[in-house]
Amino acid sequence: MPLHTRSTTPVENCEICHGDRFIQVGSKDREGLALRTVICEDCGLVFSDPRPNSQEIDDFYRESYRVAYKQAWQPRLQHTYRAGKVAEERLNYLMPLLAPGRAICDFGSGGGELVFILRELGYDASGIEPNTGYAEYSRDILGIPVQIGGFASARVGQDSLDLVTLFHVAEHLEHPVHALHTIAGWLRKGGRLLVEVPNVESRCIWPSSRFHQAHLYNFNPATLAQAGRRAGLSVVDSFASSDGGNIMCVFEKPELPDEAAPAPLPGNAARVLEVLRRHTVLSHSLTQHPYRRPVQKLLRRREEAAAVRNATDGKTLLQTIAREIGARGMRAAQSVPESMLSSGGGGLAGV
Ligand SMILES: [Zn+2]
Repeated sequence: MPLHTRSTTPVENCEICHGDRFIQVGSKDREGLALRTVICEDCGLVFSDPRPNSQEIDDFYRESYRVAYKQAWQPRLQHTYRAGKVAEERLNYLMPLLAPGRAICDFGSGGGELVFILRELGYDASGIEPNTGYAEYSRDILGIPVQIGGFASARVGQDSLDLVTLFHVAEHLEHPVHALHTIAGWLRKGGRLLVEVPNVESRCIWPSSRFHQAHLYNFNPATLAQAGRRAGLSVVDSFASSDGGNIMCVFEKPELPDEAAPAPLPGNAARVLEVLRRHTVLSHSLTQHPYRRPVQKLLRRREEAAAVRNATDGKTLLQTIAREIGARGMRAAQSVPESMLSSGGGGLAGV
C-alpha cells in the first residue's frame, strides 16, 4: 500500500525552524498520485503536509519499501552490482574521512554493499537497516554485522563511532533533526557524519518528478546544514553531485555540542521558490538532461547485464568490485593520514 494512502496528520510546525507559515508548492508525486508538498516561508524547508503517522512509516519501511521499488524481497544480482558501483563512487568522497581502526556505521545500509566493500578493504564497518529482507540478506549471505531496525531500536553505544553515513535516508525520516541528534550521541567527539540527500534545487529531473511519496522532506544545502546544527553538529563541508541532483553535508561532533535554536533562514524560501518557478517543462526540455539520462541508463543497464552474466552470487560480485578498488590503492592500511581528517574533506567541490 502506498505510504500516503495510509493515515496522515497535518504538520503544525516546521521541523527546522518551528515556523507555521507554509506555501503549497506541489499537489502530486512523480507517479501522478495526490501528494501535498509545502515550503516553510521562514526557512525554506520543503516537506509533505500532511505527513504519514510514525507507525505507518515504520511498517512501510520494514515490510514494503524495497519490494515496492525493486519488486524484490532480496536484491537481485543486477541490483547488487549497481549498488556495489554506487558504493564505489561514494568511497571517493568517504576516503578523506576514513582511517584504519575507525568505527564506521552505515545507517540505512540496504543490501549491505557499502559495508561489505569497506570491510573487504579492511575497515571496521557495520550497518543498520530497517527492512527485514535486505538486512537479513546482508547479515546472512554477505556475512556483515547489521542490526535490523530503525533509530528507535538501534543499539549503539554513546560516543562509540568515528563515522556515520546516511545515504538517502534523512529525507525519509519523520523527524530528521531528532534522528541526527541521536546519531550525534553515537559519535565520539570529533567524529563525522556524512549525509547525502536529493537536492530540491535539482534541475536534472523533470519538474513533475521532483516530489516522491516516500520523501517526507526535500532539502537544499541550507536546510540540510541547519538540520545538523539543530542537532548540535557543526558543518565541516557541503557539496553537490556533479549533476546537481544530490547534496552532501559533512558534519562533526564538536568538543562542546551546541544545539542551534530553531530560527528562520532569511532568504532561503525565496531562493528555493525561485528555483522551482524557473524549472518548468519548457526550460527542462531545453537542457541536455532529458536526453542524456535515458542514454546513460541504457548504457548502465548494458554494463550491468554484462557484469552479472557469468556471476554466481552477489557476494562474489562485491568481492570483485572490492578487489578492483583495493588494486587502486584504496585500502585501510594506505588510507589518508590523521592530519587529513581535520582538513574538511579536502579536494571536494564546494556549493
Ligand atoms: Zn521552517
